[in-house]
Amino acid sequence: MTNPDQLTAHLQWFKELGVTGVSRGPAWRQRGYITVTLKDIRTELGECTRCKLHELGRKQIVFGAGDEHAQLMFVGEAPGRDEDTKGVPFVGRAGQLLTKIIESIDLSRESVYIANVIKCRPPQNRNPEADEVETCEPFLFSQIDTIKPKVIVALGTFAAQTLLESSETISRLRGKVYEYRGASLIPTFHPAFLLRSPSRKRDVWEDMKKVRELLKS
Ligand code: URA
Repeated sequence: MTNPDQLTAHLQWFKELGVTGVSRGPAWRQRGYITVTLKDIRTELGECTRCKLHELGRKQIVFGAGDEHAQLMFVGEAPGRDEDTKGVPFVGRAGQLLTKIIESIDLSRESVYIANVIKCRPPQNRNPEADEVETCEPFLFSQIDTIKPKVIVALGTFAAQTLLESSETISRLRGKVYEYRGASLIPTFHPAFLLRSPSRKRDVWEDMKKVRELLKS
């Protein structure tokens, strides 16, 4: 967050929520400091104009969808054209594949929570830029801390690298379980990549079996 007015507004919001102090220590990034609902977070987000994406052709904010008390959360990159039109994450072809992936471990789309690192469609589906991520990700962190999922699946290179603050490729990141904001994080291939490289579905199935195991543990 770079704009002092935004920072002041943000701290004011924390104060209203009963937060009595802030810290730059690593523990501040952990969950547990503030308890809010998804509705509170959506209200705080408003008709967001905090980053340049609001004037680069987005139709609407794609906040996230699913169960506020989900044990399993999926995090993708950013809304695409279909998501921007409908206001719901992962509703295009990649989204249909994601639904099948979720159902492969006997869960439904409605029983999990789905969000993206950023909430507005970048023009021409380009990768989100650093300032956009920096501005938007606190809202994702709040969503994660509110939902408190047991397992988070990071979909694709961008989400995995951003959440894990890593520059490793998804191929190197996947296959391991990471601790993330009190959840177990599993990186896996993005469903859009699977549409182009169906032979990697086998790897995703391995990752999903691990997800199922973690959810049962
Ligand atoms: N790809 C993403 O990363 N997120 C969506 O919501 C849709 C496609």
